Amino acid sequence: MSLRFNAIETISSDQGAPVVTPNLKITGIFNENVFTLQTARQYLSDEGYKSLLTSVRGGKKIDRNVANQIANGLRAWAESKGVTHYTHWFQPLTGTTAEKHDSFFTLKGDGTPIEEFDGAALIQQEPDASSFPSGGLRATFEARGYTAWDPSSPAFIIEIGHGKTLCIPTIFISYTGASLDYKAPLLKALESLNKSAVEVCNYFDKNVTKVTATLGWEQEYFVIDERLAHARPDIVQCGRTVFGASPAKGQQLEDHYFGSIPERVYAFMRDFEQEAYKLGIPLRTRHNEVAPSQFECAPIFEEVNIAVDHNTLLMDLMNRVARRHQLIVLLHEKPFAGINGSGKHNNWSMATDTGVNLLAPGKTPKTNLMFLTFFVNIIKAVHDNADILRASIASEPNDHRLGANEAPPAIISVFVGQYLAKVLSDIESRVNTKFDEQDEAILKLDLHRSIPELMLDNTDRNRTSPFAFTGNKFEFRAVGSSANCAISMTVLNTIMADTLRKFKQEVDALIEKGEKKEIAIMHVIQRYIVESKKVLFEGDGYSQDWHDEAARRGLPNVKTTPLALDAMVTEKAKHLFESNGVYTHVELEARHEIELEKYTKKVQIESRIMGDLAINHILPAAIRYQNELLANVNGLKAAGLGKEAYQSQLDILTAVSKHIQVIHQQVDQMVEARKKANAIENAREKAIAYDKDIKAVYFDEIRYHVDKLEHLVDDDLWTLPKYREMLFIR
Ligand code: ADP
Ligand code: MG
Repeated sequence: MSLRFNAIETISSDQGAPVVTPNLKITGIFNENVFTLQTARQYLSDEGYKSLLTSVRGGKKIDRNVANQIANGLRAWAESKGVTHYTHWFQPLTGTTAEKHDSFFTLKGDGTPIEEFDGAALIQQEPDASSFPSGGLRATFEARGYTAWDPSSPAFIIEIGHGKTLCIPTIFISYTGASLDYKAPLLKALESLNKSAVEVCNYFDKNVTKVTATLGWEQEYFVIDERLAHARPDIVQCGRTVFGASPAKGQQLEDHYFGSIPERVYAFMRDFEQEAYKLGIPLRTRHNEVAPSQFECAPIFEEVNIAVDHNTLLMDLMNRVARRHQLIVLLHEKPFAGINGSGKHNNWSMATDTGVNLLAPGKTPKTNLMFLTFFVNIIKAVHDNADILRASIASEPNDHRLGANEAPPAIISVFVGQYLAKVLSDIESRVNTKFDEQDEAILKLDLHRSIPELMLDNTDRNRTSPFAFTGNKFEFRAVGSSANCAISMTVLNTIMADTLRKFKQEVDALIEKGEKKEIAIMHVIQRYIVESKKVLFEGDGYSQDWHDEAARRGLPNVKTTPLALDAMVTEKAKHLFESNGVYTHVELEARHEIELEKYTKKVQIESRIMGDLAINHILPAAIRYQNELLANVNGLKAAGLGKEAYQSQLDILTAVSKHIQVIHQQVDQMVEARKKANAIENAREKAIAYDKDIKAVYFDEIRYHVDKLEHLVDDDLWTLPKYREMLFIR
């Protein structure tokens, strides 16, 4: 029996022993496995605690002596929970997380076994991690990369089975200090934003000394039975199906969306949520998504740095916990053709240390103007850097989704909602009149009263915009479900930092010329609106009209990753990232190359899997079926029946033969095209070749014929689980 039928039979007959997740009060387990400041207070001396606190708050360095105390405290806490090993936990450019476990256990010079964890081991490590991508930043002879403790993200304990490991969040840098991960540049971008935003805030409130960017991600994912998944080599190796005919029932009835959660999936959700709470991940919502077997979860928003760690941690956790339930989680942006893919909306805002959300329309004229200032600066930032923002969400899997009439298009535009669009156009319409102090109406922009209701009615309804204002935050919707949000967050916070810095310079220049502060601010805001209004779009982002209109407006619409990535290495980008202290030119070039290589490798793997499945699964099934048909025709002939008795069989035979032929030829040609592309040295040219000469030419074509065969060939002979089984059997 093929794996396919075996899987179906097992799932139907045995649902496995249910995993029982106890009903615990969330507050009772929340942060149980996190070295929070509260816990730190219990385990550290006054000196150690104070030092940790200042470095968490202000990013100050911790000296060796104190580091030893903190390390001891960490070990004492961890050991009280049965931890034996520790690891520096980091997020290398592979897109996953990395760990290398060491035990506390060591031997003294005289052979006495002891448990030890000192400050040096806490602060810095040199994992022999020369196999991580570095884009040439580390020559092989100087392959050292260091992980360095990031005290702003708390240490935590990961439980795998009965094993427990203390994880120290770290950044990963080269011997020369170049960033080799996603976290180091993110921290730099957040610091740059903090600086620029505080200065602008001080126009309105001198008490603001810190601005933190906030992130609430919404994670979409698919869940399917593990046994069915294991019978699909494409899912096992690529996380998506490269073949599969559409089932009779897909998502057209829309009966899955927000429906009751299937029982096995519900058990899985409760299980991973509980693990997440222990790690301090504040999950809040769970529900079904549009496609069958698609779901979403979202936490309460947190500081960007922490939110990014929590998202990567959760993705890892979900994969692990799923196995206990004999399920697998697909985080790929497009696991199934013909039904919706998955995204990861990044809800983003900024908050001051005085407790103000800078994107919440204020209650007084002063705070209104502060809101308007930040609001317009974002629009300007997105307008000026749309290409870089697009590059930040570019990945091979996300190419299947962006612009596929279900996800925002590859055109970056900003949706602000009817009411604010009117406010902006009112300010803009006065382009030739100077503002003066009589401008009560403008300065008093009575935003707060009308906005909340309007938001509920309007703003949240436009699901087709890649970057939408939703009442008190912007929602960057084009981010892919499997992405590390650090990439888009690094770009978004950098362009915001940069725009605010220039804004401050321009306002200051006007004030120096004698304009009153509020008036000067209004003038710069007005100019920004004029300069960036072409990025504003309120209509249906999925429509052809918008594609035409965007082209007329001259907005970039780059559909594929190899070309979208160009924006990372333009003169503009290099200047942007360097002047904000986020990436050096060299780091940008290196990242560009790594992303291109990642693209090439992903297409290469998919192409190989396609060839393998086509030749070793699909064609043998089709040929077996041909033989059955042939035997049947010959039998009928021998029995003396006329042609009309076996005409249909001959028709099917002809159709099957035709598909077999095309598939065989196309796979051969695809292999040749790969050989050609592999000979290309330049990473960009190679990625373009993989896109244009392989993916674009062969993927859909081969799939078309395979999916046709699926409809023709005897179901009994078909070895790959079908869409209807993967999406509906659990
Ligand atoms: P939906 O977008 O599905 O309607 P919500 O708007 O309620 O759902 O929230 C989506 C996400 O936005 C949640 O993770 C929430 O915590 C987050 N969010 C809310 N306010 C902010 C904010 N000020 N900054 C960042 N994220 C926020
Ligand atoms: Mg949302």
